Amino acid sequence: MVIGRFPERIVVIGAGMAGLVCTLELMKQGYNVRILEANSQPGGRVYTMRDQFSDGLFCEMGAAFIGAHHFLTLSYAQQVGVQLINLPVPNRSLSYIDGRLIIDSPDEPALWPVSLTAEERILGYAGMFEKYLKPGLKATGNPFLPGWPTKQAVLLDSMTMEQYLKGQGASSGAIKLFEIGYMQMLGDGIRKVSALQRLLDLKMTSSESGTRTIVGGMDQLPKKLALTIGSNISYGCAVTHIEHSNKGVTVQYNNSGEIFTINCDRVVVAIPSTVLRTIHFSPPLSKEKNDVIQNQLTTSVTRTVVQSRTRFWNNLSSFTTINTDLKIGWLIDATFAQMSSGRGLICSYSSGESAREISRTGNINSAVSEIKQVLPELSSNYEGGMVFSWDHNPYSRGAYAWYKPKQMIRMLPKLSAAQGRIYFAGDNTSLFPGWIEGAISSALRTVNQIISSNSI
Ligand SMILES: Cc1cc2nc3c(=O)[nH]c(=O)nc-3n(C[C@H](O)[C@H](O)[C@H](O)COP(=O)(O)OP(=O)(O)OC[C@H]3O[C@@H](n4cnc5c(N)ncnc54)[C@H](O)[C@@H]3O)c2cc1C
Repeated sequence: MVIGRFPERIVVIGAGMAGLVCTLELMKQGYNVRILEANSQPGGRVYTMRDQFSDGLFCEMGAAFIGAHHFLTLSYAQQVGVQLINLPVPNRSLSYIDGRLIIDSPDEPALWPVSLTAEERILGYAGMFEKYLKPGLKATGNPFLPGWPTKQAVLLDSMTMEQYLKGQGASSGAIKLFEIGYMQMLGDGIRKVSALQRLLDLKMTSSESGTRTIVGGMDQLPKKLALTIGSNISYGCAVTHIEHSNKGVTVQYNNSGEIFTINCDRVVVAIPSTVLRTIHFSPPLSKEKNDVIQNQLTTSVTRTVVQSRTRFWNNLSSFTTINTDLKIGWLIDATFAQMSSGRGLICSYSSGESAREISRTGNINSAVSEIKQVLPELSSNYEGGMVFSWDHNPYSRGAYAWYKPKQMIRMLPKLSAAQGRIYFAGDNTSLFPGWIEGAISSALRTVNQIISSNSI
C-alpha cells in the first residue's frame, strides 16, 4: 500500500544512464518525474563525439564497450532496440614497450623486455594472469550475496593492487607488465588503487569473447531512453542549490543565467561526487555523508583522437588495440565497427598522471608524436586530431571514481544511503564505478529505496 500523497513529484538531477533509468522506472510506477540536466543532450559520460571528424566518423570519449555479462546494460540496450556488434577477438595481443612492438600469441609467446623469473618466462602473460590474478578474483567473493564483504574481501580492501601482486609472488618485472594497459586505468594505477576495487573491476571485463559495442555509436542508448521520457527532461538546467525538510524539497537551477526553483516531494541526485560537491545543501548534509562526497577520488582520463586518411593498419594484419608504456597509454582503432569510410580514427586512452600531463599542456603534438612512434605510417596519413580531458569536463570533473586501500568498503554504504528526502544514484555510488552496469544498478537500487519508503 502506498502512503502519503501520490503521485509524488520527484526531481532527478542528471540525465546520464543512472538518471535516465531511474526516471523511466519511477514513471512506470506512476511517479511524476522531471529530470534537470545541465547539458543540452542526455548521456553524460556516454559521449560519442561526432562533429570533429570527416566522412561521418565518430569516436567514443567515454563508455565504449559492453561486457558479455553486463546483463542490465544489455537488457536496456535490447529494450530500446539498438544493434550490437562484437569486438574482434584477435588470437594475439600487441604491446609497445621500450620502443618495440611486441606480439604475444599462444603459438609464439612474446619475449617481454622486463626482468621476469624463469617460471614467469615459461608461464607467459596468460599464465601469470592465471597464477597471480585468478586467486584474487575468486577472493573478492560475490558482493551480491548476504554476508559480503567477506573477511577475504576486507583483506583485499586493506592493500594496494601492487601489494596484492607481491603477496602472490609476482616479480617486479611481472608487476611492470601488469602496469601497462587495462590494469592501470583505475585511479593512479596499481601502486595506489585498492586491490579489492581493482579485482572487482577486472571481473567486469571478460576474457571470453562477447565484448560488444553499439553499431552507430554508444550515445544511441541514452538518446533512445531519453526519447521515451520525452519532455519530462529539461536540458540546459544546472542545479546549484537544494533546500530540504521533512515536508519536501526545493531545487534551484540556472538556465542560461536565469535562476528558477522547483518544489517537489523527493530528489534523486544522479551526478558524480566531484560535481555534487559544488551544490549547496540547506540544511547541510550530515557530516558522514559530506565527508564521503568530498573525499571520493576520481580517475583522470584524457583521450587523444587522430584522423587518418587511410586505415593503413588493415595491412598490418589488423590492430584493434595496442597497450603502450607511453603517456598515450592504450591505443584503439575507434572505427573498427565503422565500415562506411576508407578513413579511420585512432584513439588513445591515458589515465592517471599521464592523462593529467597531456591535458595540462593542452598541446596535441606530443601525444600525436607518441602515436606516430607506435604506428609510423600515421605520419603520411595524419589529417588532424583533438584532445579531450574528462578532468576538464565541468559536469563530470573526472572520469570515474576510484578508491585507495580502506576506502571502498567504508565509503560505499554512505555514498548510496538516502538522506531524508534526497536519494543518491550514479555509478560512483555502486560497486562498479566506470561502468554503465554500475550506473544502472545504482538507479534500480534508488528506485527500490523510494518505493520502500512509500509503502507499508
Ligand atoms: C573514459 C571513460 C571510459 C568508459 N568506458 C566505459 C565502457 O567501456 N563501458 C561502460 O559500460 N562504461 C564505461 N564508462 C563508464 C560509463 O560511462 C559511466 O559509468 C556511466 O555513463 C555513468 O552514468 P551516470 O549516470 O552515473 O553519470 P554521468 O554519465 O556522469 O551522468 C551525470 C549527468 O548529470 C549531469 N549533471 C552534472 N551536474 C549537474 C548539475 N549540477 N545539474 C544538472 N545536471 C548535472 C551531467 O551533465 C550528466 O549528464 C566509461 C567512462 C569514461 C569516462
